[in-house]
Amino acid sequence: MTTFDHCNQPGLRPYLDARQDMLGQLDAITDSELVGLEQLPNRILADDIHSPIDVPSFANSAMDGYALRAADLQDGVALTLIGTSLAGQPFNNRVAAGECVRIMTGAALPLGADTVVMQENCRSEQNLIYPQGTISEGQNVRLPAEDLAQGERVFAAGTRINARVLSVLSSLGLEQLYVRRPLTVALLSTGDELKSPGELLGPGEIYDSNRIGLNAMLQRLGIRVLDYGIIKDDPALIRDAFIKASGEADAIITSGGVSVGDADYTKQVLEDVGRIAFWKLAVKPGKPFAFGHINDCPFFGLPGNPVSAAVTFHLLVRPALAKLAGEVLPAPVTLQAKALMPFRKTPGRMDFQRGIVSTQPDGSLGVIAAGAQSSGVFSAMAEANCLLHLEQERGNVAEGEQVTLELIDGLYW
Ligand code: AMP
Ligand code: MG
Repeated sequence: MTTFDHCNQPGLRPYLDARQDMLGQLDAITDSELVGLEQLPNRILADDIHSPIDVPSFANSAMDGYALRAADLQDGVALTLIGTSLAGQPFNNRVAAGECVRIMTGAALPLGADTVVMQENCRSEQNLIYPQGTISEGQNVRLPAEDLAQGERVFAAGTRINARVLSVLSSLGLEQLYVRRPLTVALLSTGDELKSPGELLGPGEIYDSNRIGLNAMLQRLGIRVLDYGIIKDDPALIRDAFIKASGEADAIITSGGVSVGDADYTKQVLEDVGRIAFWKLAVKPGKPFAFGHINDCPFFGLPGNPVSAAVTFHLLVRPALAKLAGEVLPAPVTLQAKALMPFRKTPGRMDFQRGIVSTQPDGSLGVIAAGAQSSGVFSAMAEANCLLHLEQERGNVAEGEQVTLELIDGLYW
């Protein structure tokens, strides 16, 4: 007997294919603005950054010790201490043959010296210093431009500025930079059953969680959100909202109404007022997904199911927003882990099951399911720390098999 599974019908678009197609239909914004250092975190660099200076800009010591000339070093040699070089207070004379200078970490190497011996390897007697052990020329000296040379490209346009990037930019002395202007996204939920948290629920009603969760993700990505609230399942109201949003935002993100139910109007209205590119993906969760344009405004219609909405946001909308914002996303990192329990999977759709991965006592990675895998169960999504990437044609996963996964903790969601 064959069982009919409506979720695995042929003609579904493979994920990578859909993503590539979608990205090809999006153009990055080109507007940029000059922004001061403190406002830079989470912004996207508009230009390549070349170092205006050598870093370090002068030879300096990597240790607390004595700066000397390697040529003077022979067994039992005593060097005369002629001064001190502190960070920010260089020693201004030359070190001549038979001499040395007390030097601290980060202090400029005095002229004439080429090597620093750490103080633990020196014996001192009055103003004589006896270096001990084997010392090679240039030891413990940080050379000019050793980190970055003047003119060298430090970051590429499209880099998202995090705290580490910001630190490097500061170390170059830059105080303001051109970054892309932030994207503005119009966000709305569709559904007669939806109420905002804080309101009383009537019969058959539920709380709108997609808009709240998506809003938080967008904000963490540095995007300005225009909250269009909850729109009833009424084609005229949906149409008005879509047209208004297309004039106000760089992109529109909706949830709900993209499936084949009687009150699913999103796709239909998108076809009416704009252009639809595709809407059925070989992805689980998240088969129904509408992508298109209204005028020139890109439109992303996420499924209403909260798990499907979050997963398709990550899989498709996140890379799309990066493209629009001019951000170059690093290739996603995936890991291999051992399934510590069986995972049910039907061939036909790529399945992004929610998992909890952990390091096993032998150091390997093992993964279990994060609660129930139904796309209606969002609590499992919040418990998960990874998404499994179960290949489109793969069937059930037996305990002990290797699976591919992606970590989701610490990201924007
Ligand atoms: P739909 O895609 O509109 O057919 O909705 C699919 C499922 O997701 C239904 O159970 C809806 O009630 C639910 N749903 C739709 N929108 C939301 C939302 N914004 N927040 C929470 N659940 C939703
Ligand atoms: Mg609906």
